[in-house]
Order: sequence, then structure tokens, then C-alpha cells
Amino acid sequence: MCKISQCFASKMKLNLQLVLNSNNTSFTLATKSIEQTSSVWAHEYAHNLFENEIRQQFGEEITNILKAHLSKYHELFADLIPVLWSNKGDVISTLLTTDDDMIKNLDHKKFAEDSWKEIEDTIAKKNKNIQKRNFLIEHTVPAYPDRGDMNGLVNYIDGNYSEPHQALSPTRSFIGKLLPSIKTENDKKQLIKTVKDAIIQEVQEEALILQKMQSGDTSDSLSEKYLQVIEKQEDIKRCNDDLIKRIKQSLLK
Ligand SMILES: [Zn+2]
Repeated sequence: MCKISQCFASKMKLNLQLVLNSNNTSFTLATKSIEQTSSVWAHEYAHNLFENEIRQQFGEEITNILKAHLSKYHELFADLIPVLWSNKGDVISTLLTTDDDMIKNLDHKKFAEDSWKEIEDTIAKKNKNIQKRNFLIEHTVPAYPDRGDMNGLVNYIDGNYSEPHQALSPTRSFIGKLLPSIKTENDKKQLIKTVKDAIIQEVQEEALILQKMQSGDTSDSLSEKYLQVIEKQEDIKRCNDDLIKRIKQSLLK
């Protein structure tokens, strides 16, 4: 589960610094900070809801073992709530993006020319990653490389596709396309339930295998099944494809 410190604190600290460093604290920045605070809390609140749900479903012990695989689903669910609450598919990405206004408000004289370039590069890189949380953009991830394809593996790792906040970006795109038809409170509740149920189904097989293993089943077939589940969880494209398929199936019912 992402703690506020991991998800937002560095960004909020940067924003605060930008406000403090600026000679004239602008109203736009202050308004943005207030809006940001509400979305941040909606995100963190959603983490809590999701964690409770998972713990009820699978129990404490299994949830703790599943933690690494669950983190990407956690972040998707936690981004979905502020998106629905604000009716803005890009609420999280916009609020986390360091925009020109903020950069303009920095006291440029405080930074040496060299470090300024470095700051700009870091901001540009962060902004690019943050866009992966925008539900209104089409996102894709490549398939996991074949066994033995070391170059492919290195590129895949460099691409950071499994980073929990970014991993399910294609699912975000899919949900983004549903947003125009989500109009009422009931539509929103229904979508939240659909996504939550699809996620639970996604991790259910792994949870069941772990439960069997814990009750003493050490059969080869179970170990083989477990390896397959682990492989699938590393293949981010498959995780997205499967989750989208489950959401689609549930919407058709
Ligand atoms: Zn988070």
C-alpha cells in the first residue's frame, strides 16, 4: 500500500518550496494546492478502503505475501476514486505535474545555471511518468520479453513498466473511455464495484494457491501453478489485458 510519503510528499514539498521561493505567491498556486489536497486525501482514503477489502477477502497473512503484486492494483483503485469524485480523468496527472506557472515562480537566481538544467531535466522526466496516470491518454506497454532475451529484459526493466503507479496505465486508458457514460452517483458506485471485483478475481488464483501451500500442500502441480502466476504478474501487458477483459465481461452482464 502506498503511503502518502511515497506517492505525494515529494511533489507537495516541491510545490510548497515553489510557493515559498516565489516573490509573489499567486492565487492560482494556492487554489491548486487546495484542490490537490482534496484529491490526495481521496487517493489515500481509497487506499484504505481497498486494503480493508483485500484483507477481508484474503486474510492478513496472505495479503502481506501478496503485497508486491497488489501494489499496482492498489494504485489504480486509489487513482480511480479522485477521478470519479472530481469528474476529471486527468485530475491526478494534472495536480502532480509541475507546470510552467510553478517553474516561473521559482526564484531562478537561487540556482546556478548547471543545476537549473538538472532541475528542468528531472521535472521533465517526472512529468512524463506522471502522465501515465492520466486516464484520458492512450497508454500501452510492451509484452514481457521471452525467456533468455537479455536485451529485451534490460529494456523492459529500464522502461519501468512495473512501477506500481504506472503499471496499469493501459487499464486507466480503458476506464477513461468509459468515463463519458458515467454520469450518476449510481454509475460511479457501479464502476468502483466492477473494478474492485475484477481486481479481486485477478489475484484470487494466487491467493488460493498460497492458502493451499500454507495448509501443507507441497505438490509439484501446485508449485508449477504458482510459478505461472508469478510469471503472469511480471508480464504487465498480460496483467492489463486480463484486468480489462474482466472489467469488460462484468460490464456486459
Ligand atoms: Zn498511492
